[in-house]
Amino acid sequence: MARREARPAGAACPFGRRHAGTTPGLGERARRLATGTWPPGSLTTMGKVELSEQEWRDRLSPEEYHVLREAGTEAPFTGEYTDTETKGVYTCRACGAELFRSNAKFHSGCGWPSFYQPTEGDAVILIEDRSLGRVRTEVRCASCNSHLGHVFEGEGYDVPTDQRWCINSVSLALDEE
Ligand SMILES: [Zn+2]
Repeated sequence: MARREARPAGAACPFGRRHAGTTPGLGERARRLATGTWPPGSLTTMGKVELSEQEWRDRLSPEEYHVLREAGTEAPFTGEYTDTETKGVYTCRACGAELFRSNAKFHSGCGWPSFYQPTEGDAVILIEDRSLGRVRTEVRCASCNSHLGHVFEGEGYDVPTDQRWCINSVSLALDEE
């Protein structure tokens, strides 16, 4: 697959800028999701995974359950993938759906694995999160609705999208190439 091929340093992302230019900004997308005006078809193209709370508890460790199903956050600089540079595909720890690829991962220094974009725009859903008294954009798996982390924009990182997808390691599983 072409996207898996290593690109020379500094090469333009094959789909980043074009992708970013044809989708609404994060704030707009989160607002439309929150108000229910985002086209629902774009959120259900992947198989929906729906389990009961007990089934999730049986499937996940207590820490995984807390982060994925209760929107918890792992302590910074403790996650197994924070500084990982291994090439591969990051899937959802809860349902196995593909979410991110290692070629979009970068070192942000924030203490959590950071990506500049998801593999596909519809692999994740965005939700407006006002839980800490400020507005953040929560990222969830589109397939199983599990919490992954948050996405921030306009921080000035030298990445093609100017976005930092700040994702808990415990929400991810790395399939090495
Ligand atoms: Zn999932």
